[in-house]
Amino acid sequence: MNPPLPKAPINWIGVFALVFLPIVAIIAIPLYAYHHDFSTSAWVSLIALLGLSSLGITAGYHRLWAHRAYEATLPLKIILMIMGTFAVQNSILFWASGHRTHHRHVDDVEHDPYSINNGFWYAHIGWMLRNYPAAESNYKNAPDLLNDKVVMFQDKYYIPLVIVVHAAILLPIGWAVGDMWGVLLLGGLLRLIFSHHVTFFINSLCHMWGKRPYTDENTARDNFWLAIATWGEGYHNYHHIFQYDYRNGVKWWQYDPTKWLIWSCSKLGLAKNLRRIPSFNIKKAELAMKFKYAEQDLAVYGHDVNADILAMKQRISQEYEAFSHTLNDWAKLKEQEIQAKKASVAEKIHQIDDKLKVDFQLVEQKLSYHRARLETLMRNVKKNIVTD
Ligand SMILES: [Zn+2]
Ligand SMILES: [Zn+2]
Repeated sequence: MNPPLPKAPINWIGVFALVFLPIVAIIAIPLYAYHHDFSTSAWVSLIALLGLSSLGITAGYHRLWAHRAYEATLPLKIILMIMGTFAVQNSILFWASGHRTHHRHVDDVEHDPYSINNGFWYAHIGWMLRNYPAAESNYKNAPDLLNDKVVMFQDKYYIPLVIVVHAAILLPIGWAVGDMWGVLLLGGLLRLIFSHHVTFFINSLCHMWGKRPYTDENTARDNFWLAIATWGEGYHNYHHIFQYDYRNGVKWWQYDPTKWLIWSCSKLGLAKNLRRIPSFNIKKAELAMKFKYAEQDLAVYGHDVNADILAMKQRISQEYEAFSHTLNDWAKLKEQEIQAKKASVAEKIHQIDDKLKVDFQLVEQKLSYHRARLETLMRNVKKNIVTD
């Protein structure tokens, strides 16, 4: 743990939204429930509006504006801007620019606005309760956003928009279902608090709990349970290595409602140019990590010089080297293809693509074979130690 940051002046707007409102909720909601029951419609409004505001952040603020992972038509931009405004997480401009800084300086205690190395509390919420220098707005990294009319309109009229959007969404629903206070308290207040913490988990828990299948160069983790809670953003290890991919849960079966929403919008003609990292690059990162983990296992267990283990270690590094050669060949050819666009090169690429597919599978099989063998070896080593 790093030494605590020097105290910064209190951010009173942050304190109002993130401390005062939850206190009001803790008092008002049970009190109201004691005197009047909440209608089923009020509970439904909590869930539905939680989805609406959270997806405004994940699909809009995060993947569209912070990362430009796809292009949206004007109507979609306006809808996402309204949904995101309803989540009350400051303007798109401030949020997306700060988030770009997070990716650029991830884990740096001074420059990452919500560095996990300043502790869970700081990364989760603390960074918004005081005006820390790392979170100060600096839009040098966002010239595209400064030219985006929707973004600039929202930034200019942010507070009135928050009020108008809340009135325009909550009042008609409350009136239609005949439970105005229920909808205001659950769909309005409680939903807002939940939606805040759902997003904050991405900065805190998604940098603490879970696996690192793609990179261990930063603290970001992949975590299925957090993906459920965060509308698909829990695959944060993948996201930190390939931030421009419109998918965070990159495998087709991974739970990522945000990617499904973006994909559906593209089918409806509302979004286009969805960015996908080529699957070879993804596989390459994944396999590099698998080799790394295999080597780490060997380092932990293999201190006791054991011929079998040494042989395995050598084999793993030889296989990795061979595999890297194939990958490099492929990368070179890809470059030639871009430069020359020759038919002969395209044909060669096609062949090597096929070879790579087979190689990936082979290398994966070999690795799991090595891991299994290593486990057996380790069991035997331990047994020998016990019986000696
Ligand atoms: Zn992150
Ligand atoms: Zn991001």
